[in-house]
Amino acid sequence: MTTVIPAIVAPSATEPLFLGTIERRDVGAKDVRIDIRWAGICHSDIHTVQGDWGTQQYPLTVGHEIVGTVAEVGSEVTKFAVGDRVGVGCLVNSCGECENCASGNEQHCLNGAIGTYAATDVDGTITQGGYSTGVVVTEDFVLRVPEAIPYEKAAPLLCAGITTYSPLRHWNAGPGKRVAVVGLGGLGHMAVKIAHAMGADVTVLSRSLSKKDDALALGADHYFATEDRETFRSLRSSFDLIINSVSAAIDINSHLNLLAMNGTLVNVGAPAEPMAVNAGTLIGGRRSFAGSNIGGIAETQEMLDFCAEHGIAPDIEITSADQVNEAWARVLSSDVRYRFVIDIETLKG
Ligand code: NAP
Ligand code: ZN
Repeated sequence: MTTVIPAIVAPSATEPLFLGTIERRDVGAKDVRIDIRWAGICHSDIHTVQGDWGTQQYPLTVGHEIVGTVAEVGSEVTKFAVGDRVGVGCLVNSCGECENCASGNEQHCLNGAIGTYAATDVDGTITQGGYSTGVVVTEDFVLRVPEAIPYEKAAPLLCAGITTYSPLRHWNAGPGKRVAVVGLGGLGHMAVKIAHAMGADVTVLSRSLSKKDDALALGADHYFATEDRETFRSLRSSFDLIINSVSAAIDINSHLNLLAMNGTLVNVGAPAEPMAVNAGTLIGGRRSFAGSNIGGIAETQEMLDFCAEHGIAPDIEITSADQVNEAWARVLSSDVRYRFVIDIETLKG
């Protein structure tokens, strides 16, 4: 048995999204059914639908920044009760047994983590995401959303928050560390807030000077425009850690040259196009070029609790179900301050 619910649906890689329906499975013994209240718009939603990372099966509903309340729990659920305020991020399942799952890195499951949308679920269906009124998820992949985080602002933490928190933690952002954030979008602005809260010295590298006042208000200590070549001369060998959140391919060698000795540039941006690295750029200064993929479930809970404790939440623009195509166009033109969140009440009709 399944339930048909309202959803925002992509019919193909190129046509506009429309208001349609999807099916959700019945609640199993270990499942939680969530009434979705807010859903963030991540650039990955657009990459996926456009086929930037490979062909997809359509119709497809995306969205992996999900917040709502528990509406029903299965007979063996122990962690959640009806009415709890919860979230779901980019993962809905993994094998739970491989060494990466065992170490809390479910996103790197050796048997294939199951993404919240566009992934093959254990029952063979294609997972459908959070641009919908409800979702059914096994309890181990449901997060508690602290009351201290404003409800409408919590959703973007489930992807943009954890994707920036995880590398900042892993590479020890904190007092005495010089951290640069490349690209001030949904991920970038969360990286600034979190790195600042961790005590790092934070620099924003954005294309133009247009977001300077915003960046300083978000917690950045310094701001430079990458369209000005002088930036790459004056900041040479300046940073211990660079988080690149840009959704397109950039001149990665120029940015690697901004790393101090032993520094690391972590790509979280996932452009469709490859970026060519000069070995010499890494060899000089013993630099590292790394990547990072969201974060595990325990670390995502740690991030939510960290944000609650430090009063961190994204800067958002609320949009409605019938305006999501316009919102996507604004994401593509980097004209969002700094994350769209869909008011799912507008989908309930
Ligand atoms: P976003 O809100 O669109 O932000 C991307 C930012 O990149 C823009 O605000 C812009 O910053 C900069 N930018 C865009 N086009 C550019 C271009 N052609 N050249 C230089 N800079 C450009 O996107 P997002 O939601 O933060 O996602 C960013 C990337 O991270 C996407 O590729 C997404 O798929 C990926 N992602 C990865 C993970 C992971 O686990 N690794 C998780 C989530 C998302 P300025 O205006 O400041 O220059
Ligand atoms: Zn995302």
